[in-house]
Amino acid sequence: MELRFSGATDTGRVRSENQDAIFVPPRPAPRGRPTFFILADGMGGASGGAVASRTAVEVVRRELERTSARPPWDRALAAAARRAAQAIADKASRDPALRGMGTTLVVLALEDAMALVASLGDSRCYLLRAGRLHQITADHSLVAEQVRDGSLTPDQARGHQLRNVLTKALGAIPDAAPDVFSIRVRGGDRFLLCSDGLHGVVGERDIAQALAAPQPEARQVAALVELAKRAGGPDNISAIVVRVADAAGEAGADGPDTPVGAAVTITKLPPPAAAPPRARWLWAAAGLAAALILAAAGYFLADGGP
Ligand code: CA
Repeated sequence: MELRFSGATDTGRVRSENQDAIFVPPRPAPRGRPTFFILADGMGGASGGAVASRTAVEVVRRELERTSARPPWDRALAAAARRAAQAIADKASRDPALRGMGTTLVVLALEDAMALVASLGDSRCYLLRAGRLHQITADHSLVAEQVRDGSLTPDQARGHQLRNVLTKALGAIPDAAPDVFSIRVRGGDRFLLCSDGLHGVVGERDIAQALAAPQPEARQVAALVELAKRAGGPDNISAIVVRVADAAGEAGADGPDTPVGAAVTITKLPPPAAAPPRARWLWAAAGLAAALILAAAGYFLADGGP
């Protein structure tokens, strides 16, 4: 499996600061290691959003680069997200200007013929296969959840006042457990990671067309950013395109006219179990020890008092 990729992030036409952050590796990882891509869309006053998204990208990158976990890395992805959430919470607790900051996170990890996608918030991962665009991630937003349970139509959701309210994110919201999806990849697959500065203003038909264009990935990324800017560029715009080329060649055996070839099986993996029993036991022991120390201190203080 050969990977080609490119990514870009842009402030857009309205905002004065770019609070999105991305990571695209300089080259594919060696065999046996995941090649991974990260995109984060920060939120929060002052420069909190930018700090949150950069922290998320840095921490997740560091954690994944040094993971010794075995495939399929779903636990490693979830653990990296937890670490990032902790790092953001720590920074926010040290600096009042950063209080309440948070960020979305979407990570694509590819190795051998397997892709894993981890997501929190409303940044998205799409897959274009045989001419058809599939949204792999599900937005964690109030509005998207109401669309899923049928209380809002997609049309009502589009212009909704509360469409930016997230139900999951790193930092501001305590639930930092990402959704993790797995997909078997094929030659010709194209993945897109993007922030809502792109998918919020550019329709899926245009996204699919840009991804299908016979151009190098950097040109596709530039075209996608340009589409968002032409739509007004109201928000920061980020896009990462990853193409899977196989030995058989660019598009593999599937053409756009073969619906069977467009089928994608997206498996949502169960969330990794909470702390293993041993760790829980250690926490319980630590708690008991702390309680004993406090009780002893109280006893001696009371004893030495008037
Ligand atoms: Ca955004």
